[in-house]
Amino acid sequence: MRVLLVEDDGGVAEALVASLHTPGHEVTRVARGVDALTRHRDAGLVLLDLGLPDTDGLDVLNRIRQVSAVPVLVLTARGDERSVVRGLRLGADDYLTKPVRLAELLARMEAVARRADRPKAGAAPGPVRIGDVEIDLTARRVLSGDREVALTAKEFDVLAVLTARPGTAVSRQQVMDEVWGDAHLAVSRSLDVHLTQLRAKLARPGLVTTIRGFGYRLGE
Ligand code: CA
Repeated sequence: MRVLLVEDDGGVAEALVASLHTPGHEVTRVARGVDALTRHRDAGLVLLDLGLPDTDGLDVLNRIRQVSAVPVLVLTARGDERSVVRGLRLGADDYLTKPVRLAELLARMEAVARRADRPKAGAAPGPVRIGDVEIDLTARRVLSGDREVALTAKEFDVLAVLTARPGTAVSRQQVMDEVWGDAHLAVSRSLDVHLTQLRAKLARPGLVTTIRGFGYRLGE
């Protein structure tokens, strides 16, 4: 994978470049935010330090997001929780606290890249059929039997995240991340509320399975 590393600390950058090279990543490193803005187009993934000498990393993220959906993984100093939350709201795909552990970094990079590769829910090819329930992500329509199910926008969004991977376990964090742009916050309760409504409206017990301690699965 082509990785753009935005990191002003020479020691940290050098170690990361060397570590990522071994599993086969091609890393370009820049030290300033302004360089990230011109170089992200060539990258398959951006590792973005928030504390940069010329500009705030969050501004860099914001400006990248205005023009690109490239996966961005934020590297942040410990305890910088407010920045992390802002970062996720601005469209960061994930974050890691420094000092970064290599195995975790690689795993997160893979996960973020995999998510980015997946076709967006809105661009799904055709309706998904499970039993007598038909979910059309493009038209944002749901049929349960012959009955059209009237869902709110958020209920549909939650269903769409699960529908994009039928039969696959999807974590609560992932649903929250995709629907609310926030995997780590207090929207957890909100997800429960929407799921309860969604299940009641679909009236197909067993269509959405709860996987205890993890998340949900649509269909078998
Ligand atoms: Ca820094």
